[in-house]
Amino acid sequence: MAKIRVTVWNEFRHEKSHKAVSDVYPQGIHGQIAAFLGANADITCRTAWLDQPEHGLTAEVLADTDVLIWWGHMAHDEVKDEIVDRVQQAVLSGMGLICLHSAHMSKVFRRMMGTSCTLKWREVGERERLWVVNPGHPIAEGLGPYFEIPHVEMYGEYFDIPTPDELVLMSWFQGGEVFRSCCAWYRGKGKVVYFRPGHETLPIYYQPEVQTVVTNAVRWCKPAAGGRTVFTCPCVEPIEKFEVEK
Ligand code: ZN
Repeated sequence: MAKIRVTVWNEFRHEKSHKAVSDVYPQGIHGQIAAFLGANADITCRTAWLDQPEHGLTAEVLADTDVLIWWGHMAHDEVKDEIVDRVQQAVLSGMGLICLHSAHMSKVFRRMMGTSCTLKWREVGERERLWVVNPGHPIAEGLGPYFEIPHVEMYGEYFDIPTPDELVLMSWFQGGEVFRSCCAWYRGKGKVVYFRPGHETLPIYYQPEVQTVVTNAVRWCKPAAGGRTVFTCPCVEPIEKFEVEK
């Protein structure tokens, strides 16, 4: 069986400028995500980052990508619009897109949503409890009724996204807020997943339940059977023969 081809894209700036981040992610956030995903027999990973030519997302790379994972935070504005256009077209034709944590404000995610994607936040290291609200969903496979992350940056509602086509996880935070923390949408022939956990100074991508969600999301949003389809707007002949009444 063909492996799912994943490209893990990371801004890769915090790791170079903040020791607190490189201490947690010595191989970069993309390196850690690619490491746990690549340990699965059905997944093969490559990585790409902002400072590569074309941000590492050439037409060839995107054509060879089944699922693109996006992590960004401090340099969303530096992502070129032509690359955002390219990613959007790839998703509409069938590529999967998984946006993590602060990628809620990335150009790519906001383009796919069409809304501001703003939210409330607080960084005090409180506890998060993520409730499975769609236990039959493939992204929830292997999870219990809930799991907890001991120390997180809080993201709270209102999260300005279109109502998700499928909602998988809802978060509660010690400070009292709630948040739609794993959401899925269909866009054209492609699928988009947003998954909240993943602050750069916290070891969240080492936690097994978090890895389970990201891995399940990769499998769920891989392209549908038949692969990519570029939709056009053709004028067509009728299928049935008929006379138009004068
Ligand atoms: Zn954060």
